Amino acid sequence: MSHLPAVGTWRQCPKCQRNVHRLEWGSLQICPHCGYYLRLTATQRLQQLATEFQPLPEITAAAPFAFPGYQAKLAQAQQQTGATEALTAGVATLQQQRFMLGVMDSHFMMGTLNMIVGARLRQVIAAAKTQQLPLVLVIASGGARMQEGILSLLQMNTVLAAYDDLNAAGNYTLNILTDPTMGGVSASFAFAADTVIAEAGATIGFAGKRVIQKTSREPLPPAFQSAASLYQQGQLDAVVARTDLAAVVGQLLRLHQRK
Ligand SMILES: [Zn+2]
Repeated sequence: MSHLPAVGTWRQCPKCQRNVHRLEWGSLQICPHCGYYLRLTATQRLQQLATEFQPLPEITAAAPFAFPGYQAKLAQAQQQTGATEALTAGVATLQQQRFMLGVMDSHFMMGTLNMIVGARLRQVIAAAKTQQLPLVLVIASGGARMQEGILSLLQMNTVLAAYDDLNAAGNYTLNILTDPTMGGVSASFAFAADTVIAEAGATIGFAGKRVIQKTSREPLPPAFQSAASLYQQGQLDAVVARTDLAAVVGQLLRLHQRK
């Protein structure tokens, strides 16, 4: 028997550096000392935004990709997260309202967009249309998954086309941009919703800060690519605290009910 605490009981806050007990992080994973948000897993997000959740039939890979080391990375991500891919989708209920919900998980290969994630996004978008339900996407992604090459980039326009189709049908759509929303995801469907809100503190952009700094050789403002600065520039409808997110989503769904 060891006198040391069980692994995973304490976690140092990346912002204030204090050691915080698992119970103190709470279900929303917020530092009790400085208010820092840890990134939520898809499971934690579902607990936050759905009182009931019925997953859609899960689309999986038809054939493995040959990119060196990719299969091992995928297997590791699956083992670490318990999920089969970086997007979980299904029919959700929140405050007695039904909607289609897709949740990306940055813990799964940084939530990168690949063929399966793209197929699952088109699936949840199509399901919203046929079932005449609103669509809510929780976005957390580093961009396209480069191991799948051009096929990952192809997801940008095919998902966006499906999204546009749903918008044209008149379904209410809501995207919640969380940390991080980057690359090909921010450049395609992330901003395609009727309402686009961000979780406070999220980094949202296309190319990473370091790449831009290197290319432009100009100093960047401290708030560069922050949810707050995007809101100030009119790119977002609102920036919402994690503690208020479920209430805000419920309110938006109620306000946009059909008839
Ligand atoms: Zn802290």
